Amino acid sequence: MENKVNFITYEKGKPLVLLNLHKYRFIRERKDGMKKWLCTKKTCYASIFTNGEYVHETINEHNHTENSQQSIERQV
Ligand SMILES: [Zn+2]
Repeated sequence: MENKVNFITYEKGKPLVLLNLHKYRFIRERKDGMKKWLCTKKTCYASIFTNGEYVHETINEHNHTENSQQSIERQV
């Protein structure tokens, strides 16, 4: 079972993805094409790898609650 992520673009032009109300910033692309993303919260080490639009792997748990839907819509 795969989860699909939503790609959003931050106002400064940096790519972000949204998954289950958590936002991730782009870190790097692996040789095999997987992209690594890290939670936008600085104190959180939850990260994901995406394969196209789908989540390939999740690493670490978030140490905080998710964003509210309202706060995400305000920032997008
Ligand atoms: Zn987090």
